[in-house]
Amino acid sequence: MSTTTELCSQRHSYKKSALVLGAGGFIGSHMVKRLVAEGYWVRGIDLKYPEFSPSEAHEFLIGDLRDVSFVRRCIRYYGPFPNFHFVHDDQFGNVFDEIYQFAADMGGAGFVFTGNHDASIMHNSALINLHVLDSVHQWNQEKQKNQTILFYSSSACMYPEHNQLDPENPDCREDSAYPANPDSEYGWEKLFSERLYFAYARNYDIPVRIARYHNIYGPQGTWCGGREKAPAAICRKIAMLPKEGGTIEIWGDGKQTRSFLFIDECIEATRRLVQSSFQGPINIGSEEMVSIRDLVNKIASIARKKVQMKYIIQGPVGVRGRNSNNDLIRKQLGWDYSLTLQQGLERTYSWICQQLPPSSTL
Ligand code: NAD
Repeated sequence: MSTTTELCSQRHSYKKSALVLGAGGFIGSHMVKRLVAEGYWVRGIDLKYPEFSPSEAHEFLIGDLRDVSFVRRCIRYYGPFPNFHFVHDDQFGNVFDEIYQFAADMGGAGFVFTGNHDASIMHNSALINLHVLDSVHQWNQEKQKNQTILFYSSSACMYPEHNQLDPENPDCREDSAYPANPDSEYGWEKLFSERLYFAYARNYDIPVRIARYHNIYGPQGTWCGGREKAPAAICRKIAMLPKEGGTIEIWGDGKQTRSFLFIDECIEATRRLVQSSFQGPINIGSEEMVSIRDLVNKIASIARKKVQMKYIIQGPVGVRGRNSNNDLIRKQLGWDYSLTLQQGLERTYSWICQQLPPSSTL
C-alpha cells in the first residue's frame, strides 16, 4: 500500500523542493512565484503573509526564525504536500534541494541609518542566520547528505565607507570588502553572516551561494510605513502631489549616488547563481548610477508633474556614492542587468499609484 507521501508525489511531479525564508517579504515573495513557475514544490516561512498578493507557496508557515526549534522543523522536508504540522518520523524526512535565506530585520535609510534600530537589526538577523546554518548542518549530518544549496542574501551595505566617499566614483568590486568598514550596523551584520556562511561551507561542506544585492526595487515592495527604500518613497511622494506638482522632501543634498536593480532581474540573477557552482560573494545590481536628484527628476517626468526638492540635510542618507560593479557576475554567470532605470521606474510608479487610496492619487 502507498504512503500518503507517495500518493501525493504521484499526483504532482515537482522538479525540486525549495524552502524560502522571508517568503512574506519583497524579494522572497517574488522568488516563491518564480520557483513555483519553474515547477518546484515550495515551503515559505515568515512572520507575516505577503502584503500585496497571496503567496503562491504550496505551504506557507507563519513563525519566528529566531526560535531555533522552529527553524529545525522548517528545514525538514517530508514530501510535496503541506505537512509541517503532522507528527513525523525523522527517518522519512529528507533535505530540501534549495534553501533561500531572505529573512532579515531591514528597511530603507529611514530604518537602517538612523541608528535607532541597530541592536534589533544585528541581534535578529544574526540569530536567524546562526539558527539556519546550525539546523541545516545538524539535519545534513543526520541524513548523511550535503546537497542542499543554501542561498544567502547579503547586501552592498557591507562595502567599506572609505571606498564610497566620492559620489562619482565609488568602488564596490567584490574584492574591495577588506579592510572592512561598513557605515551601518546592518552592513556589519551582513559581513559577519557572509563569513559565517563561508565558515560552514569550509568546515562542513555546505554548498552556499552568496549575493550582495544593490538596492532592489519594483512592484510589491514596501512603499510606506518607514521601511521603504528611496525609489518607492519618492514614487509615493510624487504620486501624492497634486496634478500640477509641488515640493517633496529629500534626505541629504540629493547629490548622493546609487544604482537600483529591478526585482525581476534580481530574481533571474539569483536563480543563475544558485544553479551555478560559483559560491560568491557576487554583486547583483545595476551599473546605471544616478544621483538622488536625477532619480526624483526621472520619476517626476514619468508622473508628468513639476517637482521641487526640499533638502533635509540632517536626514539619514548612508554613503555618498554606491554603484554595482558587475565585472565578476558577467564573467562567472554571463548575467548583466538589461532593463533601464526609466523602464523599471515606470512599472514601479504605476504600481504605487494603484496602491494609493483613490482620493490621494492626483
Ligand atoms: P523584506 O523586509 O521585504 O523581507 C524580509 C522578510 O523577513 C520580511 O517579510 C520579514 O517579516 C521577514 N522576517 C524578519 N524577521 C523574521 C523572523 N524573525 N522570522 C521570520 N521572518 C522574518 O526585505 P527584502 O527587500 O525582501 O530583502 C530580502 C533580503 O535581501 C534581506 O536579507 C535583505 O537584507 C537583503 N537585501 C535586500 C536589498 C533590497 O534592496 N531589497 C538590498 C540588499 C540586501
